[in-house]
Amino acid sequence: MSEATTPRVAVVTGAARGIGAATALRLAADGYAVAVLDLDAEACAGTVAAIEEQGGRALAVAVDVSDGDSVTAAVAAVVEQLGAPVVLVNNAGITRDNLLFKMNENEWDSVLDVHLRGAFLMSRACQQHMVEARFGRIVNLSSTAALGNRGQANYSAAKAGMQGLTKTLAIELGQFGVTANAVAPGFIVTEMTAKTAERVGMSFEDFQAAAAAKTPVRRVGRPEDIAQAVSFFAREEAGFVTGQVLYVAGGPRG
Ligand code: NAP
Repeated sequence: MSEATTPRVAVVTGAARGIGAATALRLAADGYAVAVLDLDAEACAGTVAAIEEQGGRALAVAVDVSDGDSVTAAVAAVVEQLGAPVVLVNNAGITRDNLLFKMNENEWDSVLDVHLRGAFLMSRACQQHMVEARFGRIVNLSSTAALGNRGQANYSAAKAGMQGLTKTLAIELGQFGVTANAVAPGFIVTEMTAKTAERVGMSFEDFQAAAAAKTPVRRVGRPEDIAQAVSFFAREEAGFVTGQVLYVAGGPRG
């Protein structure tokens, strides 16, 4: 992208920290103006500052991706203050782990609501701008948990659902120049996996070492490993790649 052109706009949800923050930084480095969305706009300050430090443009916007009105307002704010989005990364996520026999309905609903309903609402709100531009890139965060994971019936169902949503978006939106793909990370070092370590009663260091030992490349993943895969799907040149799920897990999956 040349400096003379107005940068295209990318939206990343759950971008205050972790994989979302690394992805926002990466897309900014790729030349996008980035809308940094999270539950609390103030929590996005670090990501926005890091993007501005590397010479990019960013805007913090508060959103609860599971709430229709909040999504409508957030996307309208992005359009008004940054421009119409042509890239959307559905990254916001939560875990509410429990074994099935102990899992309550709120744990089930809240995880499905943030991941799946959130990706639906954000995709529906952003696609109109992509269709108008005849160019768009939607990247959804799935997980190796889509293949099944003890204590994560809700999360596994949501992450498998993200893959079905991705393929359907690819089919419906392809004719408008819009692709949809999913990245399915393995173990990535973030607050989310730190919380899982706590739940299973291990130190985060021991938990990481155990995950690395089971991984063919013998290390755990970093948020940048995922940002790099998202960046590929977001590229203009990746226009013939759609409806795909890329496992980024240090070994074969899927
Ligand atoms: P993280 O560090 O927990 O960050 C998730 C971000 O999403 C947080 O800033 C969180 O805000 C935000 N968020 C939660 N609910 C939201 C909502 N309703 N609306 C808007 N933002 C919301 O997680 P991560 O590890 O970076 O994970 C990012 C994505 O990758 C998730 O979809 C996750 O399922 C997926 N993933 C992660 C791993 C891994 O190993 N870490 C593996 C596979 C897939 P609050 O802090 O305010 O809650």
